[in-house]
Amino acid sequence: MTAYDDQNIFAKILRGEIPNVTVYEDDDTLCFMDIMPRTDGHCLVIPKTPCRNVLDASDAQLASVMATVKKVANAAKVAFEADGITLQQFNEAAGGQEVFHLHFHIHPRHEGVLMRPPGKMGDMDAIKAHADAIRAAL
Ligand code: AMP
Repeated sequence: MTAYDDQNIFAKILRGEIPNVTVYEDDDTLCFMDIMPRTDGHCLVIPKTPCRNVLDASDAQLASVMATVKKVANAAKVAFEADGITLQQFNEAAGGQEVFHLHFHIHPRHEGVLMRPPGKMGDMDAIKAHADAIRAAL
């Protein structure tokens, strides 16, 4: 397993070196909005301590991250009147991972509505409004 690189973008977010739109945080985890949202309400949950992905995470890191995933997923389902929630999580480049700090994607989903393609910057005003909606439902 490759070593954790503390120059990854989520480590910089955790250190406050680059901004984020925070949805929720506790002692162990942070949830913030994805800047290239593939669904309205697309957000990410990360541990505040370093690990690359599920493969090297401790059981404690996974437990705290999953507790936050469940909390925010339920709030997002209410906020967006979603029919369901898709969780995504990628491990290593071959597994689709681009940022090497463990994260789970949360996507509110509606019947018959496809996710948007990846890699397109979102509108920051809309992203902030979506974060407000999830926060209000927490
Ligand atoms: P992946 O590692 O494949 O799960 O993809 C990383 C995700 O992080 C993508 O959905 C990006 O849109 C998202 N992302 C990258 N940089 C930032 C950032 N500065 N703030 C929020 N989300 C980001």
